[in-house]
Amino acid sequence: MARISLDHIRHAYGPKGQANPLYALKEVHHDFDDGGAYALLGPSGCGKTTLLNIMSGLLQASDGRILFDGKDVTNLSTEARNIAQVFQFPVVYDTMSVYDNLAFPLRNRRVPEAEIDKRVRDILKMIDLESWARRKAQGLTADQKQKISLGRGLVRSDVNAILFDEPLTVIDPHMKWELRTQLKQLHRQFGFTMVYVTHDQTEALTFADKVVVMYDGEIVQIGTPAELFDTPKHTFVGYFIGSPGMNVLAAGIDGAIAIVGGERVALPGRPIIPGEARTELGIRPEFITLGREGTPTQITKVEDIGRQKIVRANFAGQPIAVVMDEDMEIPSEPKLQFDPKGINIYANSWRVDFA
Ligand code: ATP
Repeated sequence: MARISLDHIRHAYGPKGQANPLYALKEVHHDFDDGGAYALLGPSGCGKTTLLNIMSGLLQASDGRILFDGKDVTNLSTEARNIAQVFQFPVVYDTMSVYDNLAFPLRNRRVPEAEIDKRVRDILKMIDLESWARRKAQGLTADQKQKISLGRGLVRSDVNAILFDEPLTVIDPHMKWELRTQLKQLHRQFGFTMVYVTHDQTEALTFADKVVVMYDGEIVQIGTPAELFDTPKHTFVGYFIGSPGMNVLAAGIDGAIAIVGGERVALPGRPIIPGEARTELGIRPEFITLGREGTPTQITKVEDIGRQKIVRANFAGQPIAVVMDEDMEIPSEPKLQFDPKGINIYANSWRVDFA
């Protein structure tokens, strides 16, 4: 396994030397620790696959370097980097048996047959394809084929890292949870460096120890699931993580008071705002009470989500979401109150400290 360092990586698709290139990756500078389980999380088009392919060597970055354990591998092929990669859609050898598909990368590396047999059987068990071992891959479902691709990524014990690009897209929803849990167990058991690309927050938060949140070609925050939830550094992280995400309201600041439309909101302190900043107030739905005290509001929608309900309302003309227990009543003249503990202030979308 290896520590993977991304040293000031930028990437623009298209010919080199173009004027005003459009950067798919703007400036990525980060170390993936040896043995870490990371998720790269972000919306479609933010640059996750581009970054993964640069790490594996499938794509050459426009600028910057890739280092494995301090050694520059920028100009090495995927093979020479010794990386296993699992893609969104299955890559299997149809004419080979399921067993041989898994054994293939080990035979290529001249691993002794006895060891191959043990590893292949262990992995087949894990992905629940033991009884299919001798069948040709050809007749299998997309779901089963993707399990073979996953198995082929996991079967080698000597790789520097295993990179996954939305590997569960074609997997049946019932199996997704099971496979994710098995991947996590395998990580604990073998300590692979794993990087897992997804746009699904549940997948990222359950799989990874550290989640790398990307937005518009940049990493905006790296943290544990709890850190991302409790202290989002950027409004995008607050909005993207959580269900529903953090409310973001345009606000003016006057000392320790935020002014939203005509309403005044007490802050937990005086925010330290740089000059000329566009300020916003971020508050998670869980820190808002809808009851008989506070600022009058109009309800626009109520969504039942089982034990809880999401109430869509407005605050000083801006939309706001509140989460309530299902059995709590909404008063006939509803009012909103914010818990100052749950309020963050953002200047130009980045979180600021309080004095
Ligand atoms: P998704 O989840 O949809 O796969 P992503 O976060 O993985 O998205 P990328 O596929 O890395 O994002 O794409 C980043 C940006 O680069 C997007 O604007 C995309 O349109 C652009 N892009 C990706 N591949 C190419 C390509 N081969 N040529 C030109 N532009 C590309």
